[in-house]
Order: sequence, then C-alpha cells, then structure tokens
Amino acid sequence: MADLKPSERGRAWVEIDLDALAQNITDLRANTPDGCEIMAIVKADAYGHGVEKVSKRLVVEGIKTFAVATLVEGVALRSYAPDSDILILGRTKPEDAHFLESHCLSQLVVDGVYAKALNDTGCKLRVHAAIDTGMHRLGIEPKNFDEIERIFNQENLCVVGTATHLASPDSFEESDMEFTNSQIESFFALIRKLEKKGYNVGKLHAQSSYGIYNYPELKCDYIRPGIMLYGVQSQDDITKIKANLHPVLSLRAVIAQVRWIEAGESVSYGRLYTTEKPIKLATAGIGYADGIPRQMTNNGGMAVVNGHKVPIIGRICMDLLMLDVTEVERVEAGDIATFIGADGSERISCEQVAAASGTITNDILCRLSTRLPRIYTGDV
Ligand SMILES: *Cc1c(COP(=O)(O)O)cnc(C)c1O
Repeated sequence: MADLKPSERGRAWVEIDLDALAQNITDLRANTPDGCEIMAIVKADAYGHGVEKVSKRLVVEGIKTFAVATLVEGVALRSYAPDSDILILGRTKPEDAHFLESHCLSQLVVDGVYAKALNDTGCKLRVHAAIDTGMHRLGIEPKNFDEIERIFNQENLCVVGTATHLASPDSFEESDMEFTNSQIESFFALIRKLEKKGYNVGKLHAQSSYGIYNYPELKCDYIRPGIMLYGVQSQDDITKIKANLHPVLSLRAVIAQVRWIEAGESVSYGRLYTTEKPIKLATAGIGYADGIPRQMTNNGGMAVVNGHKVPIIGRICMDLLMLDVTEVERVEAGDIATFIGADGSERISCEQVAAASGTITNDILCRLSTRLPRIYTGDV
C-alpha cells in the first residue's frame, strides 16, 4: 500500500540532533560558576530548530528557565514546559497582561511608564527589571535611579529578576573590552545601590552566549545562551574559554536533475555564471524561499554531495539552485546535497554559510523556512 503522506525527505529538510543539544548543555554547565543556572533562549522557534522538541528535551536535561521574545511564543512554550519559569523579553501590550498572569509568564519591564501601565491592569505579575548599561536597546539607565525604583514600587508587580545586556562581549578589541567591563561594573554598582535601599533585586543575569565564554568570572544567577545552545558561534571566532560545542542542525536537499552542459553556457537568472569548460551540473531542490541566503550567489556558497565539496553556481533561485558537480564521479537525481552539516568526511558549518552570506549564524538559522520539515534524532 502506498504511504499516506509524502516522504519527509522528499525535497529538502532540516535535521535536528537533540543529543547534540544535550552535549551543549553539559559544556555550558561546565563553564558556569556554581549556583548559576541556564536560562535557555528559545525565541524564534528555538532559532529555527523547532521550539516544541527543543524545549521538551531541555526540560529532560534539567533546564528550568526559558526566555522567548513574544507573548505568543510564551503561551506556546507554556504547553511544552508546564512547570518552567518563562520570561518574555519583548513588549507585551498592557491589554494582554492577563495572558501573562493566566499562563504564569514573567515579563521584562523596560521603563517606568510601562511598569505603571502593567500595574494598572490589576494583574499580579512577575517581572524582571531591564537595566540599560550601554547597549541602548531596552531598559533604564542607572543614572535614572528613581525610574528604576518605580518598577520595584508597583504593588501588583513582583520583581523576580534584574537584567542587563552586553553590547560587544564577542570582541577582543581593547576599547570594546573596556566598554564591556564598564557595563558590568555599572550593573553591579546599581545592584548594590538597590540592595542598600532594601530592594530585593531577584535573580541577576547579563550574559548571552559570548558573555558566557568571554566573561566567565561574572557572578550572576542565570546565563542566557541562545546561539551556542544550538552548538554554533555567531561567526567563526575565538572565545576566552574554549567552547566545546556540537552543531545541532543540518540542512539537506535532494538533487532533482544531473546533466552535462557545454563550455561557454550561462547558468541561472541574469546569466551571472558562464562555464569555461564542459561541466556536470546538478540542480538541487532548495532555494531562498527555504532560507538559503540569495546573497550567497557568487560568494563562496558550497554544498557537500556524496562526500565532495562543490560550489553553488549562478543565481540562487526561490526553490532551486545549481551546483557544479564535475568532480563528483557518481551522482544522480535523488542524491542528497548538504548545505549545513556533515556528509562523509566533509562538513559545511553554519559559520561558513553565514560568512558567505555577509551575516551571522543566528540570522541564517532563524530564517530557515517552515516549508522545511524538521526531522529529529535523539530522544525527547
Ligand atoms: C537573543 C537574546 C539572547 C541570546 O543571544 P545569543 O547571542 O544568541 O546567545 C540573550 N539575551 C537576550 C536579551 C536576547 O535577546
């Protein structure tokens, strides 16, 4: 009898290795001070990895605290992580505050006006106070101490955490390191001032992935790893403590056609690529609508086909792209091309894809389309 559903690996897909995720948790724990816990960042569908399976496995691994960007993400996550602390990093409209209360979600509060607006809804809310120590994205600057106090003094808001965000924890430039240290000092000076006035600042947190591996001496209650939870760095760069990470995600597609074309022929839209000699051409069923960056055109984009690294040639199309597989002796329609991940002894890292696209891995991963089925290995 024929299968009831088309094959998941019919065209292009994402593979998620949940055991690799667990290994990354082990490495993060090995590199954080005693008493400091992981607040797993699973916004944007867990950086494209699928928040349901990822968060369920993280719960099994003992993760008790999560953060997401939006209320809708928080409500969905609540059903996968029923007993966890969940923090919403983005702004929830005061008129939706009752969802925070009913789903027991904590909210990041970024200024005095917002604190009052949430308080005036009458909902009893758990909040984290956002302190702006120099990122200038969200939060209150320490010099505006009265405004910070206002968050603590709302009767319906219970402050369970105080947070800041580092602007360049990945940089080893002298001036950037000085800046990061000034952010850290200003955060802890503020904390001391609040405590001196009798406020309970709750749990402290400041470090995203690079902060964890470059400023390991920081004494906070939480670390907030996002990208490194998924086993990759934002770019191919070094960290003060060596990160022993395992990439969780692979991206693959099936080759739809293979044939020879002659010398002097152009390939794809705009005729950007012309063959210098006869080549064996493979067309793979994946394109920019799946999240392969169109910017990778003529910029070093690669795939692995049957254990050989081959170049993407010509413009990347919406649903298709072309590969020069002349060097691959045996290749036919139905074979697999790998765009992120390993095939045989060859591997393409997400960092390499990001470099060939002029962006960072975070951007590559969270733009992988929902059109791609997520196929999981390892237990949930
Ligand atoms: C997204 C985010 C993180 C995670 O950042 P990574 O660089 O991916 O580790 C941490 N904290 C906040 C506030 C964030 O918005």
